[in-house]
Amino acid sequence: MVSIRRYLHQHPELSFQEYETAAFIANFYKELGIEVRTNVGGNGVVAKVVGSKPGPTVALRADFDALPITDEKEVEYKSKVPGVMHACGHDGHTASLLVLGKVLNEMKNELEGTVVLIHQHAEEYGPGGAISMIEDGCLDGVDVIFGTHLWASAPTGVIQYRVGPIMAAADRFDISIQGSGGHGAQPHKTKDAVVTASQLVMNLQQIVSRKVDPTKSAVLSVGSFIADNAFNVIADSARLGGTVRSFDEDVRTQIEVEMERVVKGTCITSDSEYTFTFTRGYPAVVNHKDETLFLTEVAEKVPGVTLIEESDPQMGGEDFAYYLQHVKGTFFFTGAKPEGVDNPYPHHHPKFDFNEKAMLVASKTLGSAVLHYIKSEKESSLAK
Ligand code: MN
Repeated sequence: MVSIRRYLHQHPELSFQEYETAAFIANFYKELGIEVRTNVGGNGVVAKVVGSKPGPTVALRADFDALPITDEKEVEYKSKVPGVMHACGHDGHTASLLVLGKVLNEMKNELEGTVVLIHQHAEEYGPGGAISMIEDGCLDGVDVIFGTHLWASAPTGVIQYRVGPIMAAADRFDISIQGSGGHGAQPHKTKDAVVTASQLVMNLQQIVSRKVDPTKSAVLSVGSFIADNAFNVIADSARLGGTVRSFDEDVRTQIEVEMERVVKGTCITSDSEYTFTFTRGYPAVVNHKDETLFLTEVAEKVPGVTLIEESDPQMGGEDFAYYLQHVKGTFFFTGAKPEGVDNPYPHHHPKFDFNEKAMLVASKTLGSAVLHYIKSEKESSLAK
């Protein structure tokens, strides 16, 4: 597992360009005689371990793309590709799932069901690989799906779960305001885009504080405000950009609708024109209750797991969200804090790294989920 991870770490590929990584994964399975389908929805690879007896179909997912970051770690397995780095642990996800696939294949004669190993390209860059892989049939016949993310902020041995939303929907907005510029001393002959945009920034703050149900959470942040001009010139136009994060699909839609209304109203007040675009990123990752609680029970018995705790909702995004819109399942975090480090570098940092022992915890937890799921389905069908 470690050698696979280190090989991938040295040969990272950017989202939608992961040709060699996809070939590496496919070859791994082919050499073991495992059924594998390539170019699934792009660079995706789907392998299938079919047990000797019929039973449920359990899918496991690992992503395999890297990021446009220069690796600044001083380790022997440092990235060999300038400007590209596995800075989120997807190399570890891939190694964990490959070796688990190998082990499950060796258990094929005892396996009463099918395991679908989904190796997904392009998690880091919208629209992501999950949607196209689902459209290309990676979930066909699948009863349940499990996935995990190695999580460097949590100690190795910790499994973090959450029923319901665990990661946020991450959307982007862009607003441009067209006023009418002029001399700084003659405002009555202009439509000041800076004043209008300033009002708009304040008015937008009222959406989360006054319109969204206070028991639900959301964030609306204006991150950029551009109206470059001379000191004695009234701005002709201004542009605002920002992000909206939410956990509830209704809240997400509500914010988009309210924003358009506030932009329109503010611009009517100042007699200015506007354009408003709201670009949806990944939806929230919403875990299914029964499968999440099942996972926590399974994880208790996994060697190497020392603590199972509830995760706070995370404001980051993940396209695992789409799988959970199609089939039941759960996404959890596997603690992977490097040994002897108090404050690990965060994910997406040029010095990011994780404890490789966590790969074994991730793999065993996913493997146990498969075996226990098959067992519990068999027991419940016998009971019927
Ligand atoms: Mn990631």
